[in-house]
Amino acid sequence: MSNQDVRDVTILGAGPSGLSAAYYVGHRDGTVRIVESLEQIGGQVAATYPEKHVYDVAGFPKILGQKLVDMCTEQGLQYGADVRLGEEAKTLERVSENGEDLLALTTDAGNTYLSRAMIITAGHGAFEPRRLGIDGIDEWLGRGLHYVVREKAAFAGKRCVIVGGGDSALDWTLGLQDTADLPITLVHRRDRFRALESSMNEARRLEAEGAVKILTPHEVREVHGDGSMEALTIENTGTGELERYECQALITLLGFVSHLGAIAEWGVELEGKRQIRIDPTTCETSLPGVYAAGDVAGYEGKITLISVGFGEAALAANNAIAKFRGAKV
Ligand SMILES: Cc1cc2nc3c(=O)[nH]c(=O)nc-3n(C[C@H](O)[C@H](O)[C@H](O)COP(=O)(O)OP(=O)(O)OC[C@H]3O[C@@H](n4cnc5c(N)ncnc54)[C@H](O)[C@@H]3O)c2cc1C
Repeated sequence: MSNQDVRDVTILGAGPSGLSAAYYVGHRDGTVRIVESLEQIGGQVAATYPEKHVYDVAGFPKILGQKLVDMCTEQGLQYGADVRLGEEAKTLERVSENGEDLLALTTDAGNTYLSRAMIITAGHGAFEPRRLGIDGIDEWLGRGLHYVVREKAAFAGKRCVIVGGGDSALDWTLGLQDTADLPITLVHRRDRFRALESSMNEARRLEAEGAVKILTPHEVREVHGDGSMEALTIENTGTGELERYECQALITLLGFVSHLGAIAEWGVELEGKRQIRIDPTTCETSLPGVYAAGDVAGYEGKITLISVGFGEAALAANNAIAKFRGAKV
């Protein structure tokens, strides 16, 4: 074993919930180590929508995703957490050292980290974008195909087709209005969208103005171009008609395929396939001393939002600290 200095709490995942948990542990004078599989801090927010505005975090009527996680980082790391980036959690064991029962987390880098408690804030686990069912589609990456909008500037003056029926497809149909060449074409395979009513209403208003073109039920069938993307063949699946649409950017926002990976094998009780069941009054999992917060934590009625993760992180951190200190929350 290496890196044997014991921390009070290991936090697994440096998204908004993990950073918030780090703040609360530090605030209670506890020591923290954060283990994060990506090479960057900020979870889904930094990785998938740094330039999207977030409107529903208390205290911020409107804030860019990256700005929000920058502020979470400043707040969460102020007590000096030890942050280990680029290490994926693999195994969890219980060990005894100097008469103390500890958790031993081992990562794919071969490091083992000891702590008195653990808070799992792993979001959806390791995640990758769901792809269009077109052979060789990934060959268009870097040549016009995008799975996330990292920088709006990459779409400046470009004719864009966005595929998807959820909030992110709608968010970017609206969010790229001031950047892309209009109209932005929104393609969805169903007639009904799963997005917020307010976003849908705004998209319909822009459609009436000619700034958005909504194609349903439609599916992208082929990508054309010599080097970079020039056009798509899109099928109206209602009529079977195929039509060619000129475009330089195809943004597919079909969600992410994710899996808990090794975490699901730690003997922790799950809620469905993707979440760890917690007691929502303490955020403790079925493994004593192991807590979960944020998107990864499940119970009846759970909503996966940043602000919900913040609340759970506060509960998890304060309960974890109280338990190993034998004190009151
Ligand atoms: C496109 C999009 C738009 C959204 N818009 C909003 C919005 O406007 N408002 C809102 O409230 N919510 C929004 N959400 C949801 C919000 O992003 C999540 O609720 C939030 O990111 C959850 O934070 P988290 O810290 O729990 O998990 P995450 O942000 O997913 O962070 C988890 C971290 O854990 C790491 N990890 C996973 N497995 C391991 C492992 N085995 N070892 C080490 N590290 C690991 C991951 O790499 C990741 O960095 C949106 C989500 C998406 C995809």
